[in-house]
Amino acid sequence: MKELGVDSFFHIKGKQMQKFIVNKNAQNNGDHEVHNATTGCTYMPNSENQVEAGFHSTCAGAVAEVKRNNPTHRINGCYYCCNACHTS
Ligand SMILES: [Zn+2]
Repeated sequence: MKELGVDSFFHIKGKQMQKFIVNKNAQNNGDHEVHNATTGCTYMPNSENQVEAGFHSTCAGAVAEVKRNNPTHRINGCYYCCNACHTS
């Protein structure tokens, strides 16, 4: 019997997806920071302050999704783990 093709499924998807979380609490400047939970981050908020931001291939996708779901909040990438998405 043929095994289920889980591995090939992930290969077909190509880019590896990474898990992101966003800090429930804002920084001093009002930004809610997005962190990469797959690579981990020294500045990751405590687990009770983490809100799931989904799986994305880049931090830009995570920031965009969180912004879409929270249009009234300021969302920014963490300087340390999402530097490409850090703007302020
Ligand atoms: Zn971070």
